[in-house]
Amino acid sequence: MAVITLPGLVDAHVHLREPGYPQKEDFTSGTAAALAGGVTTVLDMPNTFPPTATPERLAEKAALAASKALCDVGLFVGATHTQVDAYLPVAFQACGLKIYVSDTFGSLRIDELGILHRLFRTWAEKADAVGYRSLANPGGIGPVAVHAEELMLPVCLALAHLYGVPLHIVHVSRRSEIELIRRAKERGLAVTAEVTPHHLFLSTDDLPRLGARGDMRPRLASPDDVAALWAHLAAVDVFATDHAPHTLAEKATETPPPGVPGVQTLLPLLLTAVHEGRLSLDDVVVRCVDNPRRIYGLPAQPDSRVEVDVDATYLLTNEAMLTRAGWTPFAGMRLFGRVERVILRGEVVYENGAVLARPGTGKVLFRPN
Ligand SMILES: [Zn+2]
Repeated sequence: MAVITLPGLVDAHVHLREPGYPQKEDFTSGTAAALAGGVTTVLDMPNTFPPTATPERLAEKAALAASKALCDVGLFVGATHTQVDAYLPVAFQACGLKIYVSDTFGSLRIDELGILHRLFRTWAEKADAVGYRSLANPGGIGPVAVHAEELMLPVCLALAHLYGVPLHIVHVSRRSEIELIRRAKERGLAVTAEVTPHHLFLSTDDLPRLGARGDMRPRLASPDDVAALWAHLAAVDVFATDHAPHTLAEKATETPPPGVPGVQTLLPLLLTAVHEGRLSLDDVVVRCVDNPRRIYGLPAQPDSRVEVDVDATYLLTNEAMLTRAGWTPFAGMRLFGRVERVILRGEVVYENGAVLARPGTGKVLFRPN
């Protein structure tokens, strides 16, 4: 048995579903799953119900998270057609602005050029007005995170460049997209890229087996797309899960909602890739700790660590999942690397399969405005 110690991981892209969808997840169940996977910070997306699109909604969500979360939580704000930039007064208390320009779950999709102009312009103006500087871009402003697939990717790259806003592309899934991002980086554009484990470890080949349990946005891509993500890892700044739980009953309906759970399996899947020689431990720490902290300006967690038995091997089961949804698209896979113990600010919060943190152990990561 070889136990190694890692910093607590950041999952920079989760949907903890609160408020609005308690049957899928809430701050306590989602952060329990996080701790069991060695994740001590999650960044929560705004497509809850109602959406996190105004200062009041952000304050409500922050209060929920503060009373219920077991690990640290950062909150994104979002824009809707009727509340385009209502979030602006609290823009930089949130960890970022998330814009959905491609098909997704919920009501936040925006694909009109006029509104996108306004979002990038007002973000840049607000940042200039308050002198906001991100760690990612100390001479400039913080990133806007976009779900931008296919032709919406060059649209967002152009708008971000024209308005001088750094851009973070969430869950990149296609060869065409990662190759374009690599080119943009080579040309000096302020762009960072995120890739999920399901787009690294699953493909369209798995769809017949998984059915609706393999349906998410972006959809699973071809084996050639998957190979391209691995080939261009140097252009991938962040591994994050897009943890998007839905119940199996919901997945069994005529119109199953897109999305799959993932926060608990992030580290074991990546450690399995380390075991297979496809990644180094440093590749994992850079993309799951250092880069998300830098991009979103997250504080370090003093006296916090994750202890992992890297030789432990086991078959992944739905029963071991702590998400309220109670399943994983990776069930049945043989994994290497088990989280044994998690320590957060000196407190043992997870040990040998048991979550020991109490609701409220996690902090809400508000930036001082
Ligand atoms: Zn998402």
